[in-house]
Amino acid sequence: MPIVIFDNDDNNYFNWISLNPEGFVLNSSRIGKHDNNLTLHKSTCDRVGHKRSNDRANSRTDIYLKHCCSKLSPLEHWASANKNLKHPVGYYRCAICFP
Ligand SMILES: [Zn+2]
Repeated sequence: MPIVIFDNDDNNYFNWISLNPEGFVLNSSRIGKHDNNLTLHKSTCDRVGHKRSNDRANSRTDIYLKHCCSKLSPLEHWASANKNLKHPVGYYRCAICFP
C-alpha cells in the first residue's frame, strides 16, 4: 500500500481521512524541528482527524506533515527508517487511539 504525504495541503488531507476511516496517519515534524517527532495515529484520532479551525495558523499539514496509508506496516517501516535517534524505538504510538 502506498504512503501518501500531505504537506501544506489540508483540503486533500481531510479528504483522504474521510475516505480512509480505517487508515493510519504518521504525524511527522519537518526534519530538524521538534526532534523529528514521529507519532502514529488512527485516521479517526481526535489528535489528527479533524480540523482545528479554518485559520491558516491552525493547519494540520503546516508544521507537521501527514504520512497516510490504509495499512499500518508501511508507516512503521518508514518511521523506523526515518526515526528520531533520541527515541529508543524511533517513533511513538498515540496513547489516545492506540494504533
Ligand atoms: Zn491518536
